Amino acid sequence: MLRRAGIALGSNLGNRLHHLQAARDLLKKLAPKGSDFLQSPIYQTAPVSCPDGSPDFYNTVVEIEYSGSPYELLDATQAIEFHLGRSQGSERNAPRIVDLDILYLGEATESEGLLELPHPRLTYRRFVLQPLADIRPDLILPGDSATIAEHLSHLDSDEPPLSLVQSAW
Ligand code: ADP
Ligand code: MG
Repeated sequence: MLRRAGIALGSNLGNRLHHLQAARDLLKKLAPKGSDFLQSPIYQTAPVSCPDGSPDFYNTVVEIEYSGSPYELLDATQAIEFHLGRSQGSERNAPRIVDLDILYLGEATESEGLLELPHPRLTYRRFVLQPLADIRPDLILPGDSATIAEHLSHLDSDEPPLSLVQSAW
């Protein structure tokens, strides 16, 4: 079954642009050749609930076509995280080379076990909503009634504003 998968990418360690590009290139390989690939601009964001002195994040969102199951996609995104050198464990929300969060996979819903879909914190985080709204403003998540653009415009959060790093990358 072919579905569209939204994936949020974040990096706040080392060469952040390079890490996002490497993860993007590997995510692209999960999709059928020639399928539509979407990517938002990259934003720089202050860390939320991270250890003191954590570097700013670079954040972006991509959308790929994907034929596997939700857990196959989780395995694939975790393999990319480890391939790019993300270390296991350590402090919660410690600086990381790359973090890949699955936002949605078509209409799939998962609420038990190691995977939650749609991602439960998606609609509260400006650093996810803004880039997702750039590529899929009219998307309505499974079980929801508002579009991504509507969630973004109603977002009431004390996060500092995002700053645009670059649109083409
Ligand atoms: P966080 O993304 O919250 O900073 P991690 O990247 O360390 O933290 O993720 C911790 C765990 O979250 C993963 O091992 C995975 O099992 C689980 N998880 C649950 N739902 C999702 C999702 N939609 N996308 C990615 N990981 C998820
Ligand atoms: Mg994660």
